[in-house]
Amino acid sequence: MSLAEKVPQALQAKIEKIIDNVKPSPWLNETQKIDYIAKIKALLVEKSAVLIAHYYVDDDIQALAEATGGYVSDSLDMANFGAKHKADKLVVCGVRFMGETAKILSPEKIVIMPTLEAECSLDLGCPIDEFSAFCDQHPDHIVVVYANTSVEVKARADWIVTSSNAIPIVENLMAEGKKIVWGPDRHLGQYINNKTGAEMVLWQGYCVVHDEFKLNELELLMTRYPEAEVLVHPESPEGVIAKADFVGSTKQIIAAGQRSESETLIIATDHGLFYKMNQAAPNKRLIPAPTGDKSATCKSCAHCPWMAMNTLINLYEALRDQTNVIEVDEVMRQRALVPLNRMLTFSRAHGILTAGDA
Ligand code: SF4
Repeated sequence: MSLAEKVPQALQAKIEKIIDNVKPSPWLNETQKIDYIAKIKALLVEKSAVLIAHYYVDDDIQALAEATGGYVSDSLDMANFGAKHKADKLVVCGVRFMGETAKILSPEKIVIMPTLEAECSLDLGCPIDEFSAFCDQHPDHIVVVYANTSVEVKARADWIVTSSNAIPIVENLMAEGKKIVWGPDRHLGQYINNKTGAEMVLWQGYCVVHDEFKLNELELLMTRYPEAEVLVHPESPEGVIAKADFVGSTKQIIAAGQRSESETLIIATDHGLFYKMNQAAPNKRLIPAPTGDKSATCKSCAHCPWMAMNTLINLYEALRDQTNVIEVDEVMRQRALVPLNRMLTFSRAHGILTAGDA
């Protein structure tokens, strides 16, 4: 058994324990919410800060980002927006690697997060020492990693890709006769492998949200809604992807939903995306793809437990006290910039959207 094949067993218990310990968000009544929102709005102005939120955080935070001149998107697009914005401080609502990615592109800015405990199972499941040892076992392979990784893993990579540009980049590497070490998401890696036929060895990480979508239950749902179009994120299992009418990144799923002629859409990604999908396609019925079959309980139930740790309360407190500031080692940052810029240059040259990870 390869090192990569052992990793899920070694890390699964750790990841599940962390999920079990994630505390539910404190409930706020409408008056309290309005109060927090007003206080955050005032602080953003006072501190010259801008709010940048991921698609998967709670609707209230996405709405607040939009109402205050901030932004809602995926991690790379969030970081790009922050880099171009004139604000001194970026308040990044999402998970830790997103704050790090923002800092990589904006080293001169203060990057604040509502909580530093918001992790990602892809990042957690790809520790630098083990991943680096895995890469070392394949010295004749190019290392290609997804954006959902730590700054150290990014620094170890030859290429960073998103779910929007992974296929053309891998095809380009194939044309150059390159073999590929892929990390960390096994489903996305398998999907790219199936699409391109590239010679790839896959790290066996997984997203706790997408990994739970269930083929059998999806098939049942499709028989109940035969008219529905099925939109699937490629971090989902292979069988679920095989049922999709459309496979793509978060941003691509929103666009596909908008142009779909079907009035009913079954969506296999975190249901936080429904906030933006409802804006883009307000008259469509959105149905979350099922995450549990009859014999299983779900851990995430189509909502990332770490994204849910971002609340109006900890957002307000972090901004008020300037806590949870992201720091990135400068040597690592410079190294991570190399594969990141390689991807940006390739994408610009080929007219490819650079946004589009989870
Ligand atoms: S939804 Fe999955 S990929 Fe996204 S942050 Fe959560 S665990 Fe990571």
